[in-house]
Amino acid sequence: MLVVDDIEAVLFDKDGTLIDFHRTWDAAVGRALKASAPDDASLARAAEALAFDLTTGRVGPESPFIAESNDVIAALLDSLLDLGAFDRALSASAREDVAPATGAASLLASLSGAGVPAAVVTNDDEATARVQMEALGWGDFFAAIVGFDSGFGAKPGPGPIVGACSLLGIEPARAVMVGDSRHDLVAGRAAEVSTVLVTNESANGLPTPRGDSADLADLVISRLDELEQILLLG
Ligand SMILES: [Mg+2]
Repeated sequence: MLVVDDIEAVLFDKDGTLIDFHRTWDAAVGRALKASAPDDASLARAAEALAFDLTTGRVGPESPFIAESNDVIAALLDSLLDLGAFDRALSASAREDVAPATGAASLLASLSGAGVPAAVVTNDDEATARVQMEALGWGDFFAAIVGFDSGFGAKPGPGPIVGACSLLGIEPARAVMVGDSRHDLVAGRAAEVSTVLVTNESANGLPTPRGDSADLADLVISRLDELEQILLLG
């Protein structure tokens, strides 16, 4: 159970939590694979490694792209395609395609208005996270943005959450980690913050893939704006 009176800061996962996973990444991953694979056989193998369906153009629910850090994904693709070209194509799409999750803008504005600091804790790289938050007009909402490459390690380790708390000057016991993946909740438990699972549905009706993670959550919500009532009025 979430003890609201203890919460002084809110940490957010990015993909599938603050931003709509499928609207942001499906087309981008397809473009990046096609731009970087040397031939059709490599394209098929790289798509399989990412659980990306070349026919439907969707990232599958079991894809490592959903929650693994970028260095883990790079290791999977390294022998199959031109990693530099893959990264450049993804980066080009990151600002263009980024789409907010339902309720995220409202919650972030409310937290900001109430003086509750917020941070991003993502397994994407910090620069991409900054570009996407700026593109959404959310740059001023975050007191810290931590990526897998910010020097604190990656989720599911506790490092990036503990690191974000230290950047905010908040004890972990006074923070809550909000995420859509098991990695977020495992990391949150290990960092001794409170945990919230958000089961966001993508605007195209696809559920955000999350596995069976509710057992690790102090609270489960279906949209981020539900937290406005709970954190600010609870
Ligand atoms: Mg996520």
